[in-house]
Amino acid sequence: CAMDLIALPAFTDNYIWMLHDGTNAVVVDPGEAAPVLAALDERHLALSAILVTHYHGDHVGGVDALRARLHGPVYGPRRESIPAPFVPLDDGDEVEVLGLPFRVIDVPGHTAGHIAYFHAGRDGAPILFCGDTLFSGGCGRLFEGTAEQMHASLARLAELPGETRVCCAHEYTLSNLKFARAVEPGNAALARYAADCEATRAAGRPTLPSRIAVEREINPFLRCGHDEVVRAAAAHGATSAAGPEVFAALRRWKNDFR
Ligand code: ZN
Ligand code: FE
Repeated sequence: CAMDLIALPAFTDNYIWMLHDGTNAVVVDPGEAAPVLAALDERHLALSAILVTHYHGDHVGGVDALRARLHGPVYGPRRESIPAPFVPLDDGDEVEVLGLPFRVIDVPGHTAGHIAYFHAGRDGAPILFCGDTLFSGGCGRLFEGTAEQMHASLARLAELPGETRVCCAHEYTLSNLKFARAVEPGNAALARYAADCEATRAAGRPTLPSRIAVEREINPFLRCGHDEVVRAAAAHGATSAAGPEVFAALRRWKNDFR
């Protein structure tokens, strides 16, 4: 059966991802209920599960209001306080939604218990729901984790199959790419991707999902071993070429980048 993957805009720059088979739907990180209810009604879909990546309000704020329409579980990270009741998940767990297996990947850094959901693909390309860990051209801020943790979390995601569709929870792509180009002015693939994304946004469309193969080529936070990235990080406080040190310098630099 063909699955449809849709980015529902929420707040100013969030996406609530919806996957559906024409009858049943699952949503990821519903920070508000209204966009989900509208999408369900418009397509005459039943809501069969909610997946949560981390506890921030812009990811869970709509969960309780959606329970009246929900015929199934809310899944979330065991180590975080998700609106109860929810099915607590650990690294390596597998959940089945819409008949598809999704594997849980621990990705601490943005929050201490943040998880991602990965489906290896059957008819279509693999799917990754990564919340606020990996963004196109960037990564989440380190609110609770260390640079070492986030560097390791992103490395796990970067190892997924290249054709994996990367479903991030925010449309931060253009501002991320502005920073990425400051880090790697010599990256031609990055310059081309930035031009494509500018055209996409100008047409009012989401730049997401991205692909893991694309992120490996253009996302400086996945490229901490490349010479140009190492040199740029050194000019912004990195004291060695070690991956976590390069990552930490990039993250600090981006926090103040305009
Ligand atoms: Zn967050
Ligand atoms: Fe968020």
